[in-house]
Amino acid sequence: MSDTTPDSGDAPRCTMDGLETIRLFNMPINNLTLEETLSNIGAHIEAGKQGYVVTPNVDHAVEYAKNELFRQAYQNACFVLADGVPLLWAGKLFGKPIKEKISGSDLLYWLSDYAAQHGHSIFLLGAAEGVGEEAGRILQETYPGLKVAGTYSPPLGFEKDPVENQKAIDAIKESGAAICYTALGAPKQDLWNWQYHAETGANLCLGIGASLDFVSGRVRRAPVWMQRCGLEWTWRILQEPVRMGKRYLIRDAYVLVLLWREWRHGSPPWNTPDQTA
Ligand code: UDP
Repeated sequence: MSDTTPDSGDAPRCTMDGLETIRLFNMPINNLTLEETLSNIGAHIEAGKQGYVVTPNVDHAVEYAKNELFRQAYQNACFVLADGVPLLWAGKLFGKPIKEKISGSDLLYWLSDYAAQHGHSIFLLGAAEGVGEEAGRILQETYPGLKVAGTYSPPLGFEKDPVENQKAIDAIKESGAAICYTALGAPKQDLWNWQYHAETGANLCLGIGASLDFVSGRVRRAPVWMQRCGLEWTWRILQEPVRMGKRYLIRDAYVLVLLWREWRHGSPPWNTPDQTA
């Protein structure tokens, strides 16, 4: 992926301005209830705008502190929604209460319901071969009338190959989908959405990580009680000890530094220059 700011296309550009936004670990986070989120996203789609959603959690906060491109993807997002109870705890601790947890894996269902009711079609990008089709079929069963405009499982590393990358963009564009679920994991999906959302022609791209694996039933999502208690990460470590152990126990231990910094210095208000060290 190049590190240049992407073209914004012809459609009106969507920004976070106008939405109540706090800063936590320097990341801007929209402070919205589920109802406010859905009504804002609905208005965005009906206005024919283009943009993308990022859903921060502790892992994103660590990436945000370390990756300048990821920070740019955040600055240019249309909606930034708190995906994870630990972020809500941190918000409370630092006097910036976040109204609600709105995770990508849940938003996927709410948006599919919205799309079915309003006649908008969806596209599923990413996950292993066949997973998108299976997830699409299940979503259609769950939300009668939902139109799945297409699915595409690009080969690993496609984003570094201009021909393969263009294939993915063209598949979404030709499908005419209004909403694209990008299931590539963070930070890849968020960088990809930032760089290419305008070219896809979709009104909204939403990074959903492993959610297609969850919807299709190939991977079991953490039980609801674990999600509510902020323990989803322990479930994922049990499922994939090596990969997730490295992510959550080693890499994300850096959150202790972020907690220290937030306690000592706080985060600047939204709309002031980013001060990530
Ligand atoms: N994935 C993909 N292409 C890639 C990298 C990842 O399709 O180049 C898929 C992978 O198959 C999985 C999802 O992206 O379905 C990412 O899973 P991960 O557990 O990393 O995501 P998380 O939910 O933790 O962000």
